[in-house]
Amino acid sequence: MTPTSTAAENKRVAVFPGSFNPFTVGHADIVCRGLELFDRIIIAVGINTAKHTDGGETLLEPIRRLYAGNSRVEVASYSGLTVDFAAERGARFLLRGVRSAKDFEYERDMAQINRQLSGIESVLLFSKPEYAAVSSSVVRELRAFGHDVDIFLPKPDDSTDR
Ligand code: ADP
Repeated sequence: MTPTSTAAENKRVAVFPGSFNPFTVGHADIVCRGLELFDRIIIAVGINTAKHTDGGETLLEPIRRLYAGNSRVEVASYSGLTVDFAAERGARFLLRGVRSAKDFEYERDMAQINRQLSGIESVLLFSKPEYAAVSSSVVRELRAFGHDVDIFLPKPDDSTDR
């Protein structure tokens, strides 16, 4: 911290990037626990402009609704490199979740590359055991077969700070 740094610069802002298709209870738990570490979290939905013709609105809207009452959480979309988006938004940290050894190896490689590229640090939180098997792809598959997936989707209570 330099004597000239402003209060805004001193705020700890993290970008939580992902596909969030859809946003699950596991994701919400990472945000909730991340709010103990960071002043603000930007949930950044990575979109592919060719694939998401609505600009990702279908993915973003339920997440925005969930966090509408939490001023420390912002929901945004981005396309391009995650670290470029984070730098644009003045975030010095990326927040990610780890469910398994497979996630860990992937996240470690990404964290190292991202830090080399930009100096942005990744902070990894281990998933709660009860959410370790929850993934967006499982939720999508269950939905496709007509199953109720409500237990995997966050409720308004899951969006508040602890
Ligand atoms: P990506 O396509 O970038 O992996 P996801 O939306 O699948 O995007 O996941 C975003 C982040 O959330 C990743 O760091 C992923 O490991 C983490 N994550 C996904 N599901 C869970 C869960 N059930 N518990 C904790 N973290 C999770």
